[in-house]
Amino acid sequence: AAPGQLIDGKAVAAQVLAEVTADVITLKIEGIEPALAVVLVGDDPASHVYVRNKVLRAGEAGIRSLEYRLPAEASAAEVLALVAELNGDASVHGILVQLPLPRHIDETAVLQAIDPAKDVDGFHSENVGGLSQGRDVLVPCTPAGCMRLLRDTLGDLAGKHAVVIGRSNIVGKPMAALLLAADCTVTVLHSRSKNAQALCRKADIVVAAVGRPRMIDAEWIKPGAVVIDVGINRIEEDGKSRLVGDVDFAKVQPLTAAITPVPGGVGPMTIALLMQNTVTAARQQHARQAAS
Ligand code: NDP
Repeated sequence: AAPGQLIDGKAVAAQVLAEVTADVITLKIEGIEPALAVVLVGDDPASHVYVRNKVLRAGEAGIRSLEYRLPAEASAAEVLALVAELNGDASVHGILVQLPLPRHIDETAVLQAIDPAKDVDGFHSENVGGLSQGRDVLVPCTPAGCMRLLRDTLGDLAGKHAVVIGRSNIVGKPMAALLLAADCTVTVLHSRSKNAQALCRKADIVVAAVGRPRMIDAEWIKPGAVVIDVGINRIEEDGKSRLVGDVDFAKVQPLTAAITPVPGGVGPMTIALLMQNTVTAARQQHARQAAS
């Protein structure tokens, strides 16, 4: 490939959604109608946008979606009661509780209450543990989307040295686990790492999930590396508001073999992988029912 090839997340996401749509048709022929329940508590404006987009994408893929909106004052008991009801409803295959939850509700307790088989965000400890053990479980959507982009770009990842910058539970840690499962040699950098830049400069694959605008510049990158930029940071520049990644795209792109832009890279993949997880969950639940 030519240096600095753009990894088109929008195009790959469209391809994933086309695959999901085809899978949904097959499932419906078998009498299974995949369904995703989305739970939104409170009135965080960004969460409303995310939920609307998820419901919209589900509809486009032929997935039935159920939306539950609870007021910001809803008690933890009410949220847990709703999750329990959805766990018990065999016609619901995926349950997504939009984060963040209002401060008075214990997020971990709610995520742990979701049936792991329906945990399409992959945040339940059963799925987190399963990923770390190399079991075939539901995995978090953003890192799963990054893996799809890497496989489409590089093919086999075995033996590649991958550096993940960031160790959050939703991106950095599951990303590292997925790369390890794909036989990469994995280094995880975080805010307490020493010589982060020099370590990163050894990487064949760089995944940046830090949340700091343009932190990763040319000094961090080995020529020919493939760079996946998960960061979504809103900044003010030249009197305008714009979205930039954790990577200084203008400086880094010429060095790379391939790189994701922001926006249009990892962003569109997350929602596509959520739909894929929903279909996977539906198929697995029916296989389990058929076997019992
Ligand atoms: P968190 O804030 O939860 O985690 C950030 C991580 O970066 C932490 O592990 C932190 O280390 C590490 N870090 C902070 N500063 C440095 C530094 N100077 N050097 C090295 N490591 C550092 O963020 P998330 O993982 O939730 O998100 C990361 C970015 O990805 C954000 O921009 C977010 O908006 C974006 N995002 C995008 C998604 C998408 O769909 N494309 C989905 C989710 C997130 P420590 O643990 O030591 O504090």
